[in-house]
Amino acid sequence: MSNIFKKIINREIPTAFLYEDDLCIAINDIKPVAPVHILIIPKKEIPTINDLNEDDINIVGHLVYVAKKIAKKNKIDSNGFRLVFNCNDDGGQTVYHLHLHLLGGKKLNRAIG
Ligand code: 5GP
Repeated sequence: MSNIFKKIINREIPTAFLYEDDLCIAINDIKPVAPVHILIIPKKEIPTINDLNEDDINIVGHLVYVAKKIAKKNKIDSNGFRLVFNCNDDGGQTVYHLHLHLLGGKKLNRAIG
C-alpha cells in the first residue's frame, strides 16, 4: 500500500503542487508550524534517511537546492529559514517517505531536541 506522500505524488489525493520536476514535488504542510512550512518530497520511495544509498546522493542534494529556490521565491531567504529531515520515531518522523521540511517566515525557536 502506498504511503500518503506517494498517493499525493501520483495525484490520487488532490493536493496543490508548489513545485514539480522529474525528481521531486513541493507541497504546503497540512499542519504548518511556521508561516512558511513546505515539504520537498522525492518521487522515489525512500522511507527514511537510513535507507539512502549512494545512488540517492544526487536526490538529497537536489531537495536542498529546490528548498533554496523555494525559500527565495517565498522571500524568506535573507531573513533565514530552517531545513529539517526527521528520521524514525525519536526524530519525530510520522510519514515514512523521505521529505525535507522548509520552515520560515518567523523567528524560529533555537531549541533543537
Ligand atoms: P514528519 O513528522 O514525518 O517529519 O513530517 C510529516 C509532515 O507531513 C507533518 O508535518 C504533517 O503535518 C505532514 N502531512 C501529513 N499528512 C499530510 C497530508 O496528507 N498532506 C500534507 N500536505 N501534509 C501532510
